[in-house]
Amino acid sequence: MSTEMAIYFDSSACTACKGCQCACKCWNSLPSPLGLNANEFTHSYQSPMDLNGNTRLIMRFEENESPKKWGVEWSFGRRSCMHCSNPGCASVCPSGALSVDEATGFVRVEEDKCIGCRYCETACPFDVPRYYGPDSKVNKCTACLDRQENGRAAQINNGTGVTQTQFNVPACVHTCPPGALDFGPRDEMIAKAYERVEFLKNREIDPSPHASVYGDKLFDGAGTHVIMVLKYPVETYGLPVDPKVSPMVDLLGWMKPLTGLAAAATVAGLGLSFLTGIGYKRDTLHYDEKKH
Ligand code: SF4
Ligand code: SF4
Ligand code: SF4
Repeated sequence: MSTEMAIYFDSSACTACKGCQCACKCWNSLPSPLGLNANEFTHSYQSPMDLNGNTRLIMRFEENESPKKWGVEWSFGRRSCMHCSNPGCASVCPSGALSVDEATGFVRVEEDKCIGCRYCETACPFDVPRYYGPDSKVNKCTACLDRQENGRAAQINNGTGVTQTQFNVPACVHTCPPGALDFGPRDEMIAKAYERVEFLKNREIDPSPHASVYGDKLFDGAGTHVIMVLKYPVETYGLPVDPKVSPMVDLLGWMKPLTGLAAAATVAGLGLSFLTGIGYKRDTLHYDEKKH
């Protein structure tokens, strides 16, 4: 049985502690290549400034002048894969390294199948896929499908002080102290997001007139499997208001079987030269004691 699942992020509850960012690194054994104090000074609490081959999730820090008489307004955003329902990345991937998980709707990553063609980079409307290692293998959020599939259970605080048991939650969700992240059936996460937006807009103290739900209706209603509550206007979070699947997707989709064939031919060629290479090496390395 399959249930569409989603990761929920509430920017109005997020304290920008970056616990989720660290948990993602820890669970997925992603290194930080920088040495002590080697990070470039950027005037921002955001670090690193963008996704990279070792970083699947960053918290965005946007500082804006407050329309009130004093201070600034912070908008804290989540930058990672949105797990699109019709993912451009998976539709152009010629090797099957990116695919939709039928049980949950998340976009699965199988690095060992990646041939480093970088088609997915061109096809992603959110500029998410990054690459690592000498073979340039794809790296992006996996929705922690490994945890989901292995029945990892966790006690999480649901943001109201009540601790509840949730099963199979992604590492980032598991760690969030104020309960700004949640995980569950997609329709439940959407309902929760609308309820929260209603509250933010109508609360008596400091109402948020621009609050909105992001992710449920994008791409002509297909949406994504990350559902966000945005406290301020969408642009404030560096997100596209109306993202479009790149026109390159049609072209790359057409080229996909050719690239797949070329990749298969390359692998076959390498295999053949490896086999012939073994024979050649054995001949030349043969040591005949009588002759010497
Ligand atoms: S956000 Fe980009 S990488 Fe993630 S599923 Fe959508 S197209 Fe693929
Ligand atoms: S779901 Fe897993 S891989 Fe994705 S951002 Fe969260 S911790 Fe990282
Ligand atoms: S762990 Fe929660 S509160 Fe901390 S930065 Fe991530 S989403 Fe925000």
